[in-house]
This record gives sequence, structure tokens and C-alpha cells, in this order.
Amino acid sequence: MHGSDLVARDRAVVWHPYGAVGDTAPLFAVASARGVRLTLTDGRELLDGMSSWWAAIHGYRHPVLDGAVRDQLDRMAHVMFGGLTHEPAVALAELLVRITPPDLERVFFCDSGSVSVEVAIKMALQYQTGRGRPDRTRLLTIRRGYHGDTSGAMSVCDPDTGMHHLFTGLLARHLFAAAPTSGYRDPVTDRDLADVERLLAAHHGEIAAVICEPVVQGAGAMRFYPPGWLTRVRELCDRHQVLLIADEIATGFGRTGELFACEHAGITPDIMCVGKAMTGGYLTMGATLCTAEVADGVCASPAGAFMHGPTFMANPLAAAVSRASIELLLAGPWRERVAAVHDALATGLAPAADLPGVVDVRTLGAIGVIETRDPVDMTVIQPLLVDLGVWVRPFGRLVYAMPPFVMDPAEVSTLTGAMVEAVAATTK
Ligand code: PMP
Repeated sequence: MHGSDLVARDRAVVWHPYGAVGDTAPLFAVASARGVRLTLTDGRELLDGMSSWWAAIHGYRHPVLDGAVRDQLDRMAHVMFGGLTHEPAVALAELLVRITPPDLERVFFCDSGSVSVEVAIKMALQYQTGRGRPDRTRLLTIRRGYHGDTSGAMSVCDPDTGMHHLFTGLLARHLFAAAPTSGYRDPVTDRDLADVERLLAAHHGEIAAVICEPVVQGAGAMRFYPPGWLTRVRELCDRHQVLLIADEIATGFGRTGELFACEHAGITPDIMCVGKAMTGGYLTMGATLCTAEVADGVCASPAGAFMHGPTFMANPLAAAVSRASIELLLAGPWRERVAAVHDALATGLAPAADLPGVVDVRTLGAIGVIETRDPVDMTVIQPLLVDLGVWVRPFGRLVYAMPPFVMDPAEVSTLTGAMVEAVAATTK
């Protein structure tokens, strides 16, 4: 099928993320993917700078991951999880408990990142009820955050970033503190914490949990803040009997240079959400981990159980490939690889800082960001990036990349060269 035919058929029937029906925004038909490259139906090869939105950390069609899916397929693709269990789920849960920050001991499997956030929110509310604090029904979060597209997750996304503001009046009303303005390498300041402290004090007795993306605010901002902020928020949560939910869906599994971003601050959240790279980008799966104290509190509520149970919970194919992906990551020199990607991103993106339309260039782990003064014109920059041989999907004022960890420095340099050239050509 020729790409243009497929695009025409797509436009007639398919919705795309954050897209309009009949959209004429640039759309490219992909035929296959291998290693760090996507092949379009017209034969063009693109270097993948997105890891399919943080997920494909080992690149595409990794033989170990392909093999894990095939082996599991020979046993069972799926079976319900109510009243049944299986080796892929148990082994993955044990592995997650072992590698996540200490004291996270219970694992709830679900089928996407957004649902893992829903589960985290429900757990926090039910926990507070179970501990005799039923009036604690609100969440506190920070501006510029992003936690997913389902209703509960939307309710803790920054209402002003434009993603979900249409629904603001219909969603649960949570509390939004100013985000820290210091960068990752800066010391945390009292100012960075002031609004969180103010809201925790002003709404004492109403707040069930603080939810945040640790160290890296992803889709809402691509900003990196000081780990010390997280350390102090952990202390504040303890002082106010408020749970801390860390959304590690984008940051988990090595992306920031630590296995989990909470490790930059050496803290353990009470509840942690993971997804995306957990399956190496192969299948859709998320998980919500919590401490024994949270699990006990949840079950001490009048319900006596946690009332959530997705049909595809702990899907064996997804669980098997997750375990294979995590073991593959841990068996290899992932820290060195992420550091090498980081250094190549930092070197390659540095020239963008001198462009007139650019306000900031920043890198952390295997993440590189060019922030422009004005929103980029996607109808111009997206085809240009493709013409330059790379797959990078800008958003608003952000042209950013988070390549697979296996991308070598020369390839990262090609990627960053294309990004800088595309930004230079499309901003003033
Ligand atoms: N939280 C964060 C921090 C995310 O980056 C995302 C996805 N962009 C989500 C939650 C939602 O995950 P999913 O798209 O798998 O539902």
C-alpha cells in the first residue's frame, strides 16, 4: 500500500492523538521499525528521536523482546485476572518490587499509564478513609504537570496548559501550586516550595495526596527541577499526613540517568505509577505500586478491598515482555548508554542556544529539549524534520527528543543536527 493511499484512508476514518477529524496536519505512513529506525511506506528511513513517546528504550524488534512475546504467545495471550494468576504477572511484580525504591511492596497492574494514575488517586482517597480521615478528598499538584487523559488524571493536569481546559468545570477540583522554577542543577530555594507549603497549610485536613512527576515535568513542560524539591515535598507530606504519589510513567526505567527519577532525591513515594518503557514499548501496560501501609489503609476502608479490576489487568503477553525488557535493561550497561546519549544530546543541541527564536536548551539523562519563544508551526517543521531523516514530534514551544538508549552517539548527532537545522529554519 502506497503511503499516500493509506494516509487518505486514515483521514477518512481514524482519530489521532490530539487531532481533529479530517485533519490535514502532516501524517506519515510507517511500514516497519527496526533498531533505532522507522521505515515509511515510501521507503524513507527515519532515525527515531521519540522512542514512541518514552517507551521503546531498546529500539524496535529487539530479538529478546520479540522472543519473549512469541514464547508467551505459545502459552496464552490473555486470561482474566479475577480468581486466576500466572507466572508472567507474579514474576513481573516481584521484579518491580525489587527494583523500585524501598518499601514499595504491592503491585496493581493495569493497562495504561493514565489508568495507573486513576488507580493511584483512588488508592489515596480510599487509604485516607481507611485511616479515619474521610474528609481528605483533594489532591495537591503543581502547575505544568501532565498525568494522562482519563478524567481523574485530567483533574490533576495543569488546567491552563490547554490540553484539558475544556473540561475544567466538570472535573474534581484539586489544588495547583506553582511549580519550582529552579533547574535540575540549581539548589532548591524556599521560593520553589512556598506555594506548596502555603496550600498544604491552608487546606490542612482536606488533602489526601500530593501527586507530581519526579524531577522531570514531561508532556506539560519538558522542564527539569531540583531533586531537593522532591526531598522537601516528601518531608512536608509526612508532616501533614498526606501521601506522596510519584508519577514515573515517563521517567521510569532509566530515562533520567537513574532507574527511577525518585532516586535523584533518594526518596520513596507512598504510591508510584509506572508505564510506557515498562514493556520496552511493545504492549500497553501500567502498574501502580504502593507501600504495605497504604495497602493496609486501603483495605481498612469500609469497602474492605480495592475496587478496581480492568479486563486486561496483568495481560500475560505484556507482563512477559515487560519482564524481558527490564531484565534486558538491567543486564546491560544502561547507565553508560544513557550517559553517552546525554552527552551527545547536550553537545549536539548546544548550538541551538544561539538561535534568535530559542529561549532555552536543556538536557537530562536521555532527554534533550529546545524551547522556542513562539509555538512552532507543525505544518512546516514536521515535514522538514522528516525530510532531514529524523522522527521528532514537536509540541507547542518544545522541540525535544528522548531517543532509544541504544542509539549510538553518531546517530544522536545526526538527530540533534536535524533538530537544530529545523528550528533554525522555522523560528525567527
Ligand atoms: N503520566 C505521565 C507523566 C505521562 O507522560 C503520560 C503519557 N504521556 C501519562 C501519565 C499517561 O500515560 P498513557 O498515555 O499510557 O495513558
